Amino acid sequence: MIVLKFGGTSVGSVENIKKVAKIVKTEKKQNIVVLSAMSGVTNTLVKISNLLSQKNRVDAQLEMNNLHQKYQDVILKLFKSKLSFDKASLVIECHYDELLSILEIKFSEKVEKLILAQGELVSTSLFQLYMEEIGESSSLISALDFMIIDNNHEPDSNKIKEELSKIILKHSDTKVLITQGFICRNTNKEIDNLKRGGSDYTASIIGAAIGASQIQIWTDISGMHNNDPRFVDQTFSIGEISFDEAAELAYFGAKILHPQSIIPAKEKNIPVLLKNTFDPDARGTLIHNNAKVEKIRAIAAKDNITAIKIKSYRMLMAYGFLKKVFEIFEQNQISIDMITTSEVAVSLTIDDTSKLDNIIQELEGLGSIEVDNDLSIICIAGNLSQNKKGVTALIFNCLVDIPIRMISYGGSNYNLSFLVKTTDKVTVLNLLNKGLFIKVGSKN
Ligand code: ADP
Ligand code: ASP
Ligand code: MG
Repeated sequence: MIVLKFGGTSVGSVENIKKVAKIVKTEKKQNIVVLSAMSGVTNTLVKISNLLSQKNRVDAQLEMNNLHQKYQDVILKLFKSKLSFDKASLVIECHYDELLSILEIKFSEKVEKLILAQGELVSTSLFQLYMEEIGESSSLISALDFMIIDNNHEPDSNKIKEELSKIILKHSDTKVLITQGFICRNTNKEIDNLKRGGSDYTASIIGAAIGASQIQIWTDISGMHNNDPRFVDQTFSIGEISFDEAAELAYFGAKILHPQSIIPAKEKNIPVLLKNTFDPDARGTLIHNNAKVEKIRAIAAKDNITAIKIKSYRMLMAYGFLKKVFEIFEQNQISIDMITTSEVAVSLTIDDTSKLDNIIQELEGLGSIEVDNDLSIICIAGNLSQNKKGVTALIFNCLVDIPIRMISYGGSNYNLSFLVKTTDKVTVLNLLNKGLFIKVGSKN
């Protein structure tokens, strides 16, 4: 079985939904299709949620009305038969009523998650009705029946496998099983989600649970590029990449993949193929274990980074000092991205500043604290093992005029990362592109 995931743009219009159906139709065997919300819908739902949290029901309802109108336009164009149109109408009216009913209740985090789930619930229902209309054997299976997360917000892989196997068994005669990306249930059985961009993660979790032969992530670009195409002009698609390199790039900002999405596939050694819905013949990128070794594979950048420096003369030769530092982050449940140490100070970075005040207050017990905001981590992935001569010189020679706040190298063989001001990010990405890729003419 394979898993095919289509992102927001891929299901973002009537024309695109038909393209997705055409791709899915070409699959001969039973498969699972994971869909995101139509592009822009989750952003609108976030907006509705924010308005409701500010008690602005009038504007929230306006947004709901616009969304309802958008869906009405879609189904009018998507369906030919009256029967399918009527069924689709029922779907969108149902979800519109659900949103309207939320206007009447007290806003909470639970309500917010219910609102955010509406995008995937609608897109999958409409797609299944379309598959039915074009005579494709398909069923809608609700992610809320099997995508379960634990208290640490991690997928509960045993439960997911158990529930999903039962569901697949029930639908053994159906060729296409359609389900929602992004949404899940937490330990309280409430609707929850896998964070923004989480549909990729859903696909990988499902792939691992069913032992898929391949996980395909269909999006609006022909695979992983060597650099961020939103900020750099001359980027190119990478034919193949290892799980470790892809995981580093996803974690450090390559938006094409949700940060955690590679982990379940990597654990089960299931190849992940990144493909373009709008150019299905383009080769895309295969993420697998036997990718040909490349010195420098790709570059990514992660914004909204905060650096914290803890300076303590008492740290000199003091064992246990780092333990105390880490414990403060652990107790506040904030993960650290980068770390560098010197004799008298340690610098580290975080991207979640929700507990920053608390953390600073606790760290002040250990030394003097400096905090820098508006930083970006630049991550270079490739075969960067320390015995590769000249790699670091090659990288930093491109950046002679750029102030660098921190450098992390040697943590793994696949990553070198460093910290710059976000205002320098685009310049850095372009300088590295020129120096590491264009110059050597490795465009493929
Ligand atoms: P989807 O809605 O299909 O999940 P996303 O917008 O989340 O799609 O991800 C695809 C986008 O990721 C591309 O349009 C591209 O702009 C952006 N992107 C950022 N870095 C990279 C990269 N290294 N390679 C390819 N795409 C990237
Ligand atoms: N719809 C969700 C989002 O926009 C999940 C996804 O598209 O992957 O974040
Ligand atoms: Mg995405």
